[in-house]
Amino acid sequence: MWADLVSATNEMGYNSQKNELKTEFKGWPSILQNLRETWLIYKEWFVTAWTEQHLHFGNTNTNRVEGAHATLKRDLGSINYDFLGMWQMIHPSITVQITEIKVSFERSLSLVKHEHNCLFFQNIRGFVSINALDLIVNERKCCDKVGTEKETCGCDLRRTHGLMCAHEINTSQWGINVSEFLEVLKPLILSAHNVDSDGNCGFRAIALSMGMNIETGWMAVRQDWRAELAFYKEEHTKVFGSEENSNTLMDILNTFDSPCSREKWFLLPNIGFLITSRYQVVLVSISSVFCHTFVPLRTPPPSKPKVIAIGHVNGNHFVSMKLQVGCSIPEPVLFWKKYHHPAADG
Ligand SMILES: [Zn+2]
Repeated sequence: MWADLVSATNEMGYNSQKNELKTEFKGWPSILQNLRETWLIYKEWFVTAWTEQHLHFGNTNTNRVEGAHATLKRDLGSINYDFLGMWQMIHPSITVQITEIKVSFERSLSLVKHEHNCLFFQNIRGFVSINALDLIVNERKCCDKVGTEKETCGCDLRRTHGLMCAHEINTSQWGINVSEFLEVLKPLILSAHNVDSDGNCGFRAIALSMGMNIETGWMAVRQDWRAELAFYKEEHTKVFGSEENSNTLMDILNTFDSPCSREKWFLLPNIGFLITSRYQVVLVSISSVFCHTFVPLRTPPPSKPKVIAIGHVNGNHFVSMKLQVGCSIPEPVLFWKKYHHPAADG
């Protein structure tokens, strides 16, 4: 019960835990008096609700100081030393501590933990301590719930450790400037999410919009669309205009290199039809010069279709986008009107 009180994350929680404690120990007023007068008058110093308001780098108790004090007393063993004697006893133990700290820095420089081996950390891996990366890995787990609002986030990690909190991680990931899109399109766009520019950006952007794994999704979508094209080759070849176009597309999809060469880049409109037919989604592709909507070729889209979106920026880069809920989207591209299966008239 005391532990719950100490770890209360806000004042309301603290008060409710305090009331529970009062009820539980109402028969022992002296205990309550002791807690109140000896401890709780200093609640700001040790209860989470208050300690989390400060930059503390994870030091929320005095264990470390007490541990150092105990080690020092153990090393000294006796108080009967002169200044030089003290120095000779203390100096080696401090040297050991400094060495341990240096070793931990070295470890952070050279060791790559599996969960840190991702794009998100590529620019800071080896420069930031493993502990800090671990904290950010943990924070990323709440990114989906938090979104980009500061109020929802609470920003504990920023405040207590000076590291990126969930809303900041989201803001940095969704950090594409949408100002380059046509004025008429801007109201459609909720946010844009950048992806790695390794030549697989179109594949990465779709994988991200589909909610697939941010690191490996681009390979999964290549496999999915390869299967779609192989299985419905005849139908797709009609849309693409020739067997040669189909084969070229198959070559593109068969590439799993990162970085990948220009001739294997994501290709619209052809891949757009593979995406919508494979996943039964509506795909909107937005750029400053064109805006295309792709719908499934074989089947009518569900009454409330999943709409995914990508944006084409800087003339050669795709990003994942989120559109405003309920926004009106452009008409399907002409190819679809010509080649879709009658069943797809929805
Ligand atoms: Zn935050």
